[in-house]
Amino acid sequence: MRLFAAIEMDDGMRAALARIQESMKQAGVEGRFVPPENLHMTLAFIGEYPDADAVLDIMDTIPFEPFTIRVDGFGCFDEVTWWAGIEKCEPLEAYVRRLRHALAEAGIPYDRKAYRPHITLVRDAMYDKAPVFEEPNAAMEVTFLSLMRSDQGKHDRIYTPVGVVEAC
Ligand code: ATP
Ligand code: MG
Repeated sequence: MRLFAAIEMDDGMRAALARIQESMKQAGVEGRFVPPENLHMTLAFIGEYPDADAVLDIMDTIPFEPFTIRVDGFGCFDEVTWWAGIEKCEPLEAYVRRLRHALAEAGIPYDRKAYRPHITLVRDAMYDKAPVFEEPNAAMEVTFLSLMRSDQGKHDRIYTPVGVVEAC
């Protein structure tokens, strides 16, 4: 199965991000908008791996206290993948560092690109003007982290949590 560790958005954050997506559509942006139920922030992308429990066991060994993430600006990858960024968040970065280290120690593969925390909003975006969008005031408290499996649905991906780890 295709696995990734992620922060699932809470209802308030989902709604705030969905409003940003709406304003992008209003402004004429076209592309594959991430359905609101799929909005998330990836911590580590593991990819095809058979043993979800082994990954959850590793996540369980890394304690963390609840922390807040706050949307801060937008960015893009390759001009066509547009995302919302977040304010610098030391507890998040510390968790991701530890998680990746523990995965490596256990020999579980993951994508080793430098970590850029982001929440993807639209893929294959097309737009003919320099985009200017209203800065949202969106934040959430993170009290659990999820191991997600990703399956290809008819149109969009289907993400299903296979387990969660709770903050102490
Ligand atoms: P699709 O690939 O069909 O457009 P998707 O990217 O939403 O859909 P997945 O490819 O399963 O679905 O990815 C799940 C999550 O992991 C997404 O947040 C995606 O950005 C991230 N991800 C996917 N591949 C990688 C990778 N090689 N490195 C880092 N993150 C990745
Ligand atoms: Mg992908």
